[in-house]
Amino acid sequence: MWRVPLFDLDFDSREEDAVLAVLRRRWLTMGEETQAFEQEFAAMLGQGASCLAVSSCTAALHAAMDQLGLRPGDEVVVPALTFVADANVVAMCRATPVLADCASPQDWNMNARTIARAVTSRTKAVLVVHYAGQPCDMDPIVALCRERGLVLVEDAAHAVGATYRGRQCGTFGDMACFSFFSNKNLSCGEGGMFVTRDPDRLARARLFRSHGMTSLTLDRHKGRVDSYDVLAPGLNYRMTEMSAALGRVQLAKLEGNNARRERLAAAYATQLDAMPGVVRPWPGGVAGCRSACHIMPVLLPKRVDRAALMAGLRGQGIQSSIHYPDMQQFTAYKDLLRGAPVAAEICARELTLPLFPSMSMEMVHEVVALLRALLRQQECK
Ligand SMILES: *Cc1c(COP(=O)(O)O)cnc(C)c1O
Repeated sequence: MWRVPLFDLDFDSREEDAVLAVLRRRWLTMGEETQAFEQEFAAMLGQGASCLAVSSCTAALHAAMDQLGLRPGDEVVVPALTFVADANVVAMCRATPVLADCASPQDWNMNARTIARAVTSRTKAVLVVHYAGQPCDMDPIVALCRERGLVLVEDAAHAVGATYRGRQCGTFGDMACFSFFSNKNLSCGEGGMFVTRDPDRLARARLFRSHGMTSLTLDRHKGRVDSYDVLAPGLNYRMTEMSAALGRVQLAKLEGNNARRERLAAAYATQLDAMPGVVRPWPGGVAGCRSACHIMPVLLPKRVDRAALMAGLRGQGIQSSIHYPDMQQFTAYKDLLRGAPVAAEICARELTLPLFPSMSMEMVHEVVALLRALLRQQECK
């Protein structure tokens, strides 16, 4: 359907073999594959992180919010420029999401200054997102949270493999959440990871993941136990063995695929910077950071008709997207979320260009050339 899709999976016979091996072993959920995936992911993160595989990043975020003992009136700071899951999990726990704006039109992440502006006496936690895989400036954020006694949670859905001062994103907060949704840098279809260094938080999330039960179906299958106790109310946020098997293969490919994304993003950058009016976030890069290059966002000139531009790209078989529609305008949140003018402006003018590991340099040239032509056409009207 698309000549150049927004995203394409890097799956080959390795993923096929891994899933087939699971099917032939005839154990489909939370078994040895899942445990191995958790251990390998923890080894990749380092810093003494422990990992729990879950059914999605949203599940991991919910498990993180569950640890905060939130009550109505409590607040959690979330970025204004993010996927709605971050506000949703706070609202689902009956607390109030409060927006922290983007640092500037060049730095689209929240920073310690915009977070501090959103903190009140009712704030319990701060949820940061490393937008597009670009790490937030974590040292001042960690210091702020420590000083104010706030729990820090990282939504690292965009940032698998990204580093800040040599350290993996997802190891700075009290807890972190990763996504392995189809279009993320590491794809399992559906899946996520809950990460923490704190054994008590890990134990609580483990119960939350599987009905609060003290034993798993696997334990009973192996004859280790006959029954179980339930220590706390919980849900079913388990990962399947097929997803974990995909995740392990994808994890082994991550470094190479992120390096490919980096080269493609650099090629985009060179060509886009020669295009008047189109602005990229973090134009000079950020010292000490390595982005996971999850997506390729640009800011269009003010007067551009974005919908017409996307239709023009679509007409030539090129898929584009928006990251993200402004949460401040969503029906569910329009009376609740406000106060982030920089994010509102970015949301109105942002366009996401195709970026995926198997994309060719020719495809990058083609996308940029068409974007340039479509922008000129609009200027002439
Ligand atoms: C994709 C995404 C999520 C949700 O991940 P799921 O695994 O689909 O639940 C949450 N936050 C951000 C920033 C995301 O991009």
